[in-house]
Amino acid sequence: MARFIFITGGVVSSLGKGLSAAALGSLLEARGFKVRLRKLDPYLNVDPGTMSPYQHGEVYVTDDGAETDLDLGHYERFTDVSCRQSDNVTAGRIYSHVIARERRGDYLGGTVQVIPHVTDAIKEFITSDLTDEDFVLVEIGGTIGDIEGLPFVEAIRQLGNERGRDHTLYAHVTLVPYISAAGELKTKPTQHSVKELLSLGIQPDILLCRCDREIPEDSRRKLALFCNVQPDRVIQALDVDTIYDVPIAYHDQGLDEQVMKHFGINKGREAEVELSRWSDIVGTVRAPEGEVTIGVVGKYTNLLDAYKSLSEALSHGGIANKVRVNLNWLESEIFEQGDTLQHLEGCDGILVPGGFGERGAEGKINAVRFARERRIPYFGICFGMQMAVIEAGRSLAGMPNAGSTEFGDCEEPLVGLLTEWSRGNVVERRNEDDDLGGTMRLGAYPCRLRPGSRAAEIYSNNSEIRERHRHRYEVNINYMKRLEDAGLVFSGMSPDGELPEIVELPDHPWFVGVQFHPELKSKPFEPHPIFTSFIKAAVDQSRLV
Ligand code: GLN
Repeated sequence: MARFIFITGGVVSSLGKGLSAAALGSLLEARGFKVRLRKLDPYLNVDPGTMSPYQHGEVYVTDDGAETDLDLGHYERFTDVSCRQSDNVTAGRIYSHVIARERRGDYLGGTVQVIPHVTDAIKEFITSDLTDEDFVLVEIGGTIGDIEGLPFVEAIRQLGNERGRDHTLYAHVTLVPYISAAGELKTKPTQHSVKELLSLGIQPDILLCRCDREIPEDSRRKLALFCNVQPDRVIQALDVDTIYDVPIAYHDQGLDEQVMKHFGINKGREAEVELSRWSDIVGTVRAPEGEVTIGVVGKYTNLLDAYKSLSEALSHGGIANKVRVNLNWLESEIFEQGDTLQHLEGCDGILVPGGFGERGAEGKINAVRFARERRIPYFGICFGMQMAVIEAGRSLAGMPNAGSTEFGDCEEPLVGLLTEWSRGNVVERRNEDDDLGGTMRLGAYPCRLRPGSRAAEIYSNNSEIRERHRHRYEVNINYMKRLEDAGLVFSGMSPDGELPEIVELPDHPWFVGVQFHPELKSKPFEPHPIFTSFIKAAVDQSRLV
């Protein structure tokens, strides 16, 4: 039977619970166990798909088309798991499920209550869709003490009771801040947070204490004493210079060893931890052989969580080429006024990432034109591909009024709303006035590559690939001939030939637009080939100047 590890957070948000869960998952995998990682989000949206990136950061999309929390990105990047729809749930989804059952009469006249009906639905979610996992790591979003989180905390308390303490572990991630006036690290916030957790019926087994300097032995003992945790289960989680060092740092502090002890596991095979792949990556990150600068022209550039997977994938491309990748985040609207394109001059590569809505779109199109004319490597992802096609339409194919219907009616709709497409044998349909939530083309779809193209070369001459999507609009194939005549090559298409997936300009050092999101499938150990190729082109570009 699977063992459950529940990860809660205390004191403040943004302590990196997701990364902690992912790192522990990778340590358990390194010991030979099969893991699963799940996230429970206490907000009332059914999923994060309708939330602004300013509110929530990036929406991470799984192969099976779930729009999920960005922590699932950490889980996939740090472990071998492939996350599914059933790995992320929100209070909104739980409540809508309970209310739908109530309407159907499933509760047979009973009064529907948070305990037991909502907590039962949460427990059902946590324990469903499992096969032969050794460990299920369940992260609870938010901070202990939040009103919204209470049903989730209650549900995991009940599970601890039902499954037995030898099958459940509670890890609490807290902050041990340094107060400069006192010249000391303070344990009181952690004590209070654990007290709060205890008042909800949960005694943590392990404390993961985030800190910016070493926790002295006496403070560790104090934490152990007041929080009722064994001293060697007060794990110091010191800030690190690269996230790839987190599994190593946690291992050095004995995290996985303490997890093994808690569950009473001492089998030989499982005690061996193979961490050299992490230290190799940390070594490359700390001692790069060069550096490149990529200009990322987007809309949410002051909130880097909005582009989490993208910045990770770019750094993976750097690891593959042994270079540091400096990211120059540029707000696209600046390229709509006057002579501002010089901001792009020092860039070795220009990238326009995914995006929604008209604001800043013209600035992105101007950035594409700059990259094309100056022969700087250009990488367009989703919206960035759509803007590249519009730019090619306007500048190369003689369609000055080319645009996207995402911004309203236009004379030459090179990019238009997709209302019907096929997924395997199933035809999916959408209407203009459908709900916004969950109605995009989502998840992994196949794409056929044109032999001899740059795309085919990047993907090692595979004829068909699968990549993840999240968009409502598509490049309109009625314009394909005119665009191809003007020099834009459609090097990747959906198998039915209806949906353009990749475009490229052969007469350019590196100019590729993709309708999908390759950043969602890049891992530090397996950098995505498009990012590896783009960063290589940027390295070549940096040698030119
Ligand atoms: N807004 C565009 C669409 O819906 C692009 C979406 C994206 O970049 N993810 O098609």
